[in-house]
Amino acid sequence: MNYNISALLQKALRLEFLSAEEGLFLFENAPTTQLMYVGNAIKKLHVPHQKVTWIIDRNSNTTNVCIANCKFCNFYRRPGHDESYVTTIEEGYKQKIDETFALGGEQLLLQGGHHPDLGLNYYVELFKELKSLYPNLKLHALGPPEIAHITKLEQSTHIEVLQALKDAGLDSLPGAGAEILDDRVRRLISKGKCGGQEWLDVMRAAHQLDITTSATMMFGHIETNMERMEHFVALRQVQSEKPTNAKGFLAFIPWPFMDEDTILKKIKRARNQCTGDEYVRMIAMSRIMLPNIVNIQASWLTVGKATAQLCLHAGANDFGSIMIEENVVSAAGAAFRFTSDGIQKAISDAGFIPQLRNQQYEYRDLPSNMKQQVLDVEKMLVD
Ligand code: SF4
Repeated sequence: MNYNISALLQKALRLEFLSAEEGLFLFENAPTTQLMYVGNAIKKLHVPHQKVTWIIDRNSNTTNVCIANCKFCNFYRRPGHDESYVTTIEEGYKQKIDETFALGGEQLLLQGGHHPDLGLNYYVELFKELKSLYPNLKLHALGPPEIAHITKLEQSTHIEVLQALKDAGLDSLPGAGAEILDDRVRRLISKGKCGGQEWLDVMRAAHQLDITTSATMMFGHIETNMERMEHFVALRQVQSEKPTNAKGFLAFIPWPFMDEDTILKKIKRARNQCTGDEYVRMIAMSRIMLPNIVNIQASWLTVGKATAQLCLHAGANDFGSIMIEENVVSAAGAAFRFTSDGIQKAISDAGFIPQLRNQQYEYRDLPSNMKQQVLDVEKMLVD
């Protein structure tokens, strides 16, 4: 089908839903400058100021034991492997949480593998204990595939599992494990994980319970451009079904597949060929295809500072986290690293005003003594 680029961009500027076919036509035919212009204009409708948000949080892993066998993952170990672990409060969490609070952060991003023996009770007890030790800690934890895995182990429902986790202290659910939602792709790259429909159903259930979530896309492996567009359409459909008083997906974060040493690269010959230009186009397309999601995050961790800065002129309004520890994408070659000073400088250098936020995308003041604390803790981490 031959569409008119300018008519489609006008439609996008009116925040109307473009079909997957219309999105595909724009993605494959519109000049990058036009996509950037429209992505930026839509961003200004949602966030009509120059502030670019960022967050201080700590990524920690509950366990690296996993039976899902995703072909892009270097992080997991099979049950019984010498290097497998289950993190304990004393050895694994306390120091990290103390450091996070010292840095001015308040959130633990907690993820792990599909451990065959860790059911709902394990996570309920873990969340309760963390919250009793640190009442101000925010838990941004697990993700739809882990919820689906626990639901299966318990022979329960998504709602029941999420309600129990919320009661135990879960504050928000990351959009992890979306990859590409089409099941043709999932069968080839992550067939041990939940299917695309179940991923979306978990998010629907979370929104029913007013648990805030985010959405993601890992692209640039074996998917088609059409499958990327259908991914957008599926996400915004779930967002449009959320209860009116629920926030639903607070943000969308796309990132390119990191291929280093992955089975997906060895067996399927999938390579990370995403250029800076393609990533910027994907950020603009995220704005165009997701008019009902307010925040779009540029993944500096995977694309680096310069490309992420350009994304701020193409529709992104969030720079994500200084991510004190991240083990899954960094195990596959994502090497970029920011300090809190560095992330603020990168935002300022791109022409915007850095604004610290929390996981609910509410603004937070920088602690007045934070600068010295940051220097102290960063030195401590380096040492
Ligand atoms: S990406 Fe997650 S679910 Fe997949 S193998 Fe790695 S740890 Fe398991």
